[in-house]
Amino acid sequence: MDKKQYDYAIIGAGAAGLQLVLKMIRDAYFKEKNILILDKDHKNTNDRTWCFWERGETKWDKLATHSWRHGAFINNKETIDFDLSPYRYKMVRSADFYRSAKDELASASNVTWIIDEIANIEGQKIEGSKDHYSAIHIFDSRIPQGFHDRQDDYHSLIQHFKGWFIKTKKPVFDPDSFTMMDYRLKWKDSTSFTYVLPVSETEALVEFTLFNDQLLMVGEYDQYLEKYLKTYLNLFDYEITEVEQGMIPMSDYPFHKHHSKHTTKIGTAGGWVRPSSGYSFKNADRYSSMMVENIKNSRRPEKGIATSRFRMYDSIFLNVLSARNDLGEDIFTRLYTKPGIKSVFRFLDEESSLSEDIKVMFSLNKPQFWQAFFGTFFK
Ligand SMILES: Cc1cc2nc3c(=O)[nH]c(=O)nc-3n(C[C@H](O)[C@H](O)[C@H](O)COP(=O)(O)OP(=O)(O)OC[C@H]3O[C@@H](n4cnc5c(N)ncnc54)[C@H](O)[C@@H]3O)c2cc1C
Repeated sequence: MDKKQYDYAIIGAGAAGLQLVLKMIRDAYFKEKNILILDKDHKNTNDRTWCFWERGETKWDKLATHSWRHGAFINNKETIDFDLSPYRYKMVRSADFYRSAKDELASASNVTWIIDEIANIEGQKIEGSKDHYSAIHIFDSRIPQGFHDRQDDYHSLIQHFKGWFIKTKKPVFDPDSFTMMDYRLKWKDSTSFTYVLPVSETEALVEFTLFNDQLLMVGEYDQYLEKYLKTYLNLFDYEITEVEQGMIPMSDYPFHKHHSKHTTKIGTAGGWVRPSSGYSFKNADRYSSMMVENIKNSRRPEKGIATSRFRMYDSIFLNVLSARNDLGEDIFTRLYTKPGIKSVFRFLDEESSLSEDIKVMFSLNKPQFWQAFFGTFFK
């Protein structure tokens, strides 16, 4: 048994756990605190690529593989081009983030990193497969079992996707513009689209993505990717240099109910994924800063994270797309045409005012939204 009692233990050195520990070691308040990081994995592969938007240049630019000032939304009738200014859409490869986080943590003598798979937490005790640990407060990024068991009680979709990093012989891409969603190729009548992220004139990440409740057969994602490249990009000659596949829960499941006296759930497990979009990397940045301030001010770490107003909108959105998955193309077309991408960013960043939200709701102009709104509101 590891006899030491740590001040903080962080289970999971992923997007949330690492952003939290980095914020801690950069703050003098935590200088004398002993921090333990536990992960079952060494975190030295590129297990995902994170994209997000930000205004102007920030600390992420030195890690970003690429960023875009322009984007496009495409459906069968039109292409909507947008200038993102003052935002930029950025791509960070997880391997680069893990490497840079490890470099910074190496100089923090109060941080211990142990590779272990955690099975259970009981109060301040953590049970790993190799050893047992103890901490005054635990930050836990394991998805609670209750989420898997109680899917049917909530509005839940899965964002599932497969992407190919491709390299072409001839220049075909515009590296200053990415495709947010292209609905010309869909799986049945579902909310499904292709996402194109060119990092140079000859290289791009192309991803076929679905927001629904049904995973595809292995190989089906590849068929769609191949078809998209042939039909819409006229690409026959390319090399696949890397593959990315994943799923992200989009659910109004109350993850916050799993916080307890000595444990705070973080990341996907803490409900940090915006259920209406699947984005969470920037939330991890914002929420881990809030947690550090809460701790310093003797408040519960999770206080103030996730506002009920935005949770309600997400629930409405999931309610509509669960019942009518075929409406996705129309809903996103209206969002990108009427309020526009910057309003969508403000909404997803939880910065929009109530009057802006009402405008977004009106722009959708769908009876299903009003039915879901009244259903959720008067539940
Ligand atoms: C392929 C992929 C692409 C994504 N792309 C984007 C994107 O572009 N933009 C965006 O905003 N979001 C994206 N997301 C969603 C989200 O940002 C990521 O999933 C993000 O990594 C979530 O952070 P997290 O810390 O909660 O989980 P993770 O980053 O998955 O970290 C969890 C950590 O916990 C460890 N762990 C799990 N169980 C145990 C255990 N029992 N014991 C010890 N360790 C354990 C894991 O090894 C892992 O290191 C993507 C997700 C995936 C899967």
